[in-house]
Amino acid sequence: MADAVPVKLRRLVVVGLGLIGGSFAKGLREKGVFEEVLGVDRDPETRRLAVELGVVDRCEESLEQACREADVIQLAVPILAMEKVLAELSRYDLGNAVLTDVGSAKGNVVRAARATFGSMPPRFVPGHPIAGSEQSGVEAANAELFRRHKVILTPLADTDPQALALVDSLWCELGADVEHMDVDHHDEVLAATSHLPHLLAFTLVDSLAKRSENLEIFRYAAGGFRDFTRIAGSDPVMWHDIFLANREAVLRILDVFRGDLDALREAVDSGDGHQLLGVFTRARVAREHFSKILARRAYVDAMHNNDLIYLAQPGGSLSGRVRVPGDKSISHRSIMLGSLAEGTTEVEGFLEGEDALATIQAFRDMGVVIEGPQHGRVTVHGVGLHGLKPPPGPLYLGNSGTSMRLLSGLLAAQSFDTTLTGDASLSKRPMNRVAKPLREMGAVIETGPEGRPPLTIRGGQRLTGMNYEMPMASAQVKSCLLLAGLYAAGETAVTEPAPTRDHTERMLRGFGYPVDVQGSTARVESGHKLSATHIEVPADISSAAFFLVAASIAEGSEIVLEHVGINPTRTGVIDILKLMGADITLENQREVGGEPVADLCVRSAKLKGIDIPEDLVPLAIDEFPVLFVAAANAEGRTVLRGAEELRVKESDRIQVMADGLKALGVKCEPTPDGIIIDGGAYGGGEVWSHGDHRIAMSFSVASLRAGGPIRIHDCANVATSFPTFLGLASQTGIRVAVESN
Ligand code: NAP
Repeated sequence: MADAVPVKLRRLVVVGLGLIGGSFAKGLREKGVFEEVLGVDRDPETRRLAVELGVVDRCEESLEQACREADVIQLAVPILAMEKVLAELSRYDLGNAVLTDVGSAKGNVVRAARATFGSMPPRFVPGHPIAGSEQSGVEAANAELFRRHKVILTPLADTDPQALALVDSLWCELGADVEHMDVDHHDEVLAATSHLPHLLAFTLVDSLAKRSENLEIFRYAAGGFRDFTRIAGSDPVMWHDIFLANREAVLRILDVFRGDLDALREAVDSGDGHQLLGVFTRARVAREHFSKILARRAYVDAMHNNDLIYLAQPGGSLSGRVRVPGDKSISHRSIMLGSLAEGTTEVEGFLEGEDALATIQAFRDMGVVIEGPQHGRVTVHGVGLHGLKPPPGPLYLGNSGTSMRLLSGLLAAQSFDTTLTGDASLSKRPMNRVAKPLREMGAVIETGPEGRPPLTIRGGQRLTGMNYEMPMASAQVKSCLLLAGLYAAGETAVTEPAPTRDHTERMLRGFGYPVDVQGSTARVESGHKLSATHIEVPADISSAAFFLVAASIAEGSEIVLEHVGINPTRTGVIDILKLMGADITLENQREVGGEPVADLCVRSAKLKGIDIPEDLVPLAIDEFPVLFVAAANAEGRTVLRGAEELRVKESDRIQVMADGLKALGVKCEPTPDGIIIDGGAYGGGEVWSHGDHRIAMSFSVASLRAGGPIRIHDCANVATSFPTFLGLASQTGIRVAVESN
């Protein structure tokens, strides 16, 4: 966000008082940013109305008159009129005025400015608000039109930074979200996201309306037709202008689309249902993904900032039976192995979080048809170990380190090249830990500086199995190498220095692929195949942990957590709580798809402080924030050592938890590799989760025994990792909700 407008400015001139120009003028006039807002329009009636409706202070007929002593000149005329207005302006002395525009295409405006001024004036900042309505004209001017809409500015290399900052601040004043983009990129993006859809809507309606039976078609037109063609009601003249102005970019995207349409025609013609299902499932998910992004944006905007606050009321007890969301590690692997299997794999209990969805998208991009997820059900139409197809572009893996590290192993052995990219945070994570051993197996992998993403993996290499002694315990590195081992000549053996999650080994066996595990070494050899199976993803023990602690500390509680994964590499939290005296019983123990699961019955108990055995630390590493809450409610002292890794998780979990606990009045002392907590009564207060979802949920649990309400700041990330947390919390008896303001 730009800073506020620096000082009171003298004069704003808006040329073209239609919907966009009028809204810009009216909004800034109401904010009192300029001493005077002046309008220019060629239509006298528009000029009269503009003053009458309070859009501007006054109007001038002459552009030259109006622009004298202007601080800012906004051009909001139709896009094909820009050149004429710019030509006129180039003849006047504009002093130090900043020039900007709102045209829907940017390349043509910049070309026109260069042609008329001789070169692009440094104080000209091209812009484009992504807002509008089906109305036009000054009567439609609306001071709120740009609130919570994007505005794209396309400065050039020699654009004056002060001019840019000023235009930025004016749009921010109107409540818009300003972004900067390169001119060509803007035109490409808009051609795809706005211009092409309008072209399709216009042509579909026209094509159907021309036909002799058109009355029939329109009489039976259902919601789908109405929704799809709504934008065909837009201003024909404006759109005619836009297609002429953004010709090249529109033609490029239109050709791409025509190719896709031909492929779909071919699929219909040849009865290729697989192709149709592939396109439709990918499209549906992409659409859902966009809706979620848009919805979250709107929600966060509604709060006016990013600080989503939870308010947790003191007291309460837990009861009922609940199932927390599916295990993330297992969800990822179910898609990967299901895609490489022969036959159709049904997955239930899939975690519909961003990370696992990124894995689904990557395999869809490589030609695998995947239906869902819907209510945790996913159907994967496997293509076999050698059936993946080259993706159309880089595989974008969002924030998911698991996806990137595991995929690099199996992509190293494909016949095609791939590039793996991620968001800003994933792009900082170290990938050499997988790239190095894969290279030793014969893979060709290029990384960014210091081994960071993006990774470019060259296809067509022959991998050879090896014996690898991992320098650090990492389930991701182990899994990556085992997946590469499915393709490598001979045997691939991985030895780990300490036990890590063994979901890959178990699931490979579930798909009928032999894996040999002896002590700390896991081995696979190539030459076998994966056969489709049914996977029921167990509930995630890391999510269950909040309820294990909650029911343990809240008097009078009894709760059953259904179908929780109790893989021995993950059950440290149960062992530690039992050592503290918790009453947890494992009922209905069974094995599903190679993974042990059980229903966990938890009753409240008097907890006591303990020295946490160091060998349990790696088996409970994600659960410590909520275990600290258990310690705060235990009698006596709890000491944790050997957990320095907690300092480099989503937050410094030792420090952030210690700060929060102290704010509530808990006696505790962080140490370099752990914490010392003395249990006892504590009050309410204000705590900060620093965007760390597990900290936010842990303090929600702490409220059960607090003396007053706990306000927890910065809780937005809970929605991505555990979207049903608030619902399950209130269903079971934890009184936490988003603070209403
Ligand atoms: P509009 O409602 O039709 O307004 C354009 C105004 O400019 C009209 O009052 C028009 O007068 C006047 N005008 C035309 N030529 C002129 C000239 N040579 N000198 C002075 N005034 C002149 O159009 P709009 O929707 O506001 O669009 C304006 C600009 O915003 C366009 O460049 C468009 O690409 C861009 N834009 C539009 C939208 C949208 O959804 N509407 C969204 C983003 C950006 P007459 O009525 O006499 O022609």
